Amino acid sequence: MRAGSRAAYAPGMSLSLTVLGTASPHPGPGRPCSGYLLRGGGAEVWVDAGPGTFAELQRHTDPARLSAIWISHLHADHSADLLAAVYAFAYGGLTPHAPVPVYAPDGCAQRIAAFLGRPDAAFLDGILDFRPLHPAHTARHGDLLLTALAVQHDVEAYGLRAETGGRVLAYSGDTGPCDGLLHLAAGADLFLCEADIDGHHDGHREGEQVHLRPEDAGAFARQAGARRLLVTHVGPTLTPEAATARAAAAFGGPTATAREGDVRAV
Ligand SMILES: [Zn+2]
Repeated sequence: MRAGSRAAYAPGMSLSLTVLGTASPHPGPGRPCSGYLLRGGGAEVWVDAGPGTFAELQRHTDPARLSAIWISHLHADHSADLLAAVYAFAYGGLTPHAPVPVYAPDGCAQRIAAFLGRPDAAFLDGILDFRPLHPAHTARHGDLLLTALAVQHDVEAYGLRAETGGRVLAYSGDTGPCDGLLHLAAGADLFLCEADIDGHHDGHREGEQVHLRPEDAGAFARQAGARRLLVTHVGPTLTPEAATARAAAAFGGPTATAREGDVRAV
């Protein structure tokens, strides 16, 4: 399937990616921040919980049936809708029959508890099961294998490599240029990659580049031997169209823009 094509979700797809939100750094009308639904190998995983994505998630699945939630890092534009999920699961009647595993950097549960003014995270025990990520962390749900690889951001951050049925999706999370991206995207059928910044002058914290330019996304896709590139998390100084064109020129392979509502076979 071409990178630019869209497909309706079909249970026969070995692995599919549904785009819930792509915006950076704040949501807009019809445009939540980072979030995706990954389906394959008998599992459904909500990947990143940017503001607005819990609402979109409900268009595509029953959140109480999620196999897992996977959070790349704890910046609010990737994690704030965990609060929405807590309200749904704890108070809204969307109660999962078993606590939903949440793979996230350490301290995620304590952040939620602190925001809600709770003395500790014990109130989450019945609905969410927090499992801290670490470099090369793996988890398996059904026949879906999830591997976390450390990437370069200004907080603890991971990219995701998801595999089932011989198909591989790689997701950059938020990152600057780093070797982890090459391992993450090596031979991936679809590389979902951020292109947050316009130039080298922005996206730096303490001298370290913590986001990718479109050219970086394209170059890493090429070097990693990814088959297709899907550009996401485009920041306010770029348009998704311009970022995708620049990434495509650097990649030299099939490149598309991630759009809310897209369902793509990996
Ligand atoms: Zn971030």
